[in-house]
Amino acid sequence: MAQIIDGKKIAADIRNELKEETARLAAEGKEAALAVILVGENPASKVYVRNKKNACEEVGIKSLSYELPENTSQAELLELIDKLNHDDKCNGILVQLPLPKHIDEDAVINAIDPDKDVDGFHPVNVGKLSIGLEGFVSCTPSGIIQLLKRSGVEMDGKRAVVIGRSNIVGKPMALLLLRENATVTVAHSHTNELKELCRQADILIVAIGRAKFVDHEYIKDGAVVIDVGMDRDENGKLCGDVDYDDVFDKASFITPVPGGVGPMTIAMLLYNCVASAKDQSR
Ligand code: NAP
Repeated sequence: MAQIIDGKKIAADIRNELKEETARLAAEGKEAALAVILVGENPASKVYVRNKKNACEEVGIKSLSYELPENTSQAELLELIDKLNHDDKCNGILVQLPLPKHIDEDAVINAIDPDKDVDGFHPVNVGKLSIGLEGFVSCTPSGIIQLLKRSGVEMDGKRAVVIGRSNIVGKPMALLLLRENATVTVAHSHTNELKELCRQADILIVAIGRAKFVDHEYIKDGAVVIDVGMDRDENGKLCGDVDYDDVFDKASFITPVPGGVGPMTIAMLLYNCVASAKDQSR
C-alpha cells in the first residue's frame, strides 16, 4: 500500500517558509514583486492568473497586474516586457500562456530578461539547467523534486523513468533527476515496450496528458509514482495520467490528483520570485 505524497501540505510548508523570507526582505526595506501579464480572455488563463496573484499576496509578494486586450500586438507586448526588464522594482515577469495566435510565444519568452524569468522557460535558463549552472528552473519539475526530497525519497543511484518530453515538464524533469544522481530514461510516444521499460523504474514520473493511462502493469513493486497529468475522466472529473486506485497497492509512494503535483507549481513560482528578489537586492 502506497504512502500518499501530500502536495497541498508540502506547498503550504513552502509558502510559510517564503512568508518568513519576504518578511526578512521587508525588514531590510525590500520587496519581491512579480509582474503577471495576461493577454486576452481565455477563461482557464484568467483562473490561473487569479490564483497566482492570490498566492503572491498570501506570501507577501507584490503582484503587478497587466491584463491586456486580445488584440494587443506582439510589438506592444514586447515593449511592456522591455519596460519591466528595466524596472528595478520588478523581480519576476510571468506571461501567462497560451498567447493569442497572432503572437509568437518563443519571441515573447526570449524577450524576458533571464534574471527575471521566474517560469524558467528562457533558453538561457534551460541551457544553465542542462550544464548544471544555477538559474531559474521550470516550476512543475522543480516542485516534483521538492515533493520527493520532502517525502524522504532517495534519488541517488535510483532508476527513474520520465514519460513525456515536453519543454516545461518532461525534459527539465529528466535533467533535475540527473542532477540528483538518478539514472534517467525519457520515454515518449515513439517509445517501444513502454510497459517493460516503466516496470524497471524505481521512480516513475508520468507527464503525458492522457487520463488514467498508466495502470498496475507499468509499475514495479515498491516504485515511487508521480502523476503530473491534469485530465478529465469519462464523467468529467479531474484525474491524472495514472490510474490511482489500480496502482495504489503496488507503489511505495504516490501523488494524488488533485492535491499532488498541482499545488507545487505555484509554490515554486513564488519560490523563484523570492529567490530573484534576494539576488537582485544584493
Ligand atoms: P505535452 O506538451 O502534450 O507533452 C506530452 C508528452 O507525452 C509528449 O512528450 C508525448 O510524446 C508524450 N506522450 C503522449 N502520449 C504518449 C503515449 N501514449 N506514450 C508515451 N508518451 C506519450 O504535455 P505537458 O505540457 O508536458 O503536460 C503533460 C500533462 O501534465 C498534462 O496532463 C498537463 O495538463 C499536465 N501538467 C500539469 C501541471 C501541473 O501543475 N500539475 C503542469 C504542467 C502540465 P511526443 O513528444 O512523442 O509527442
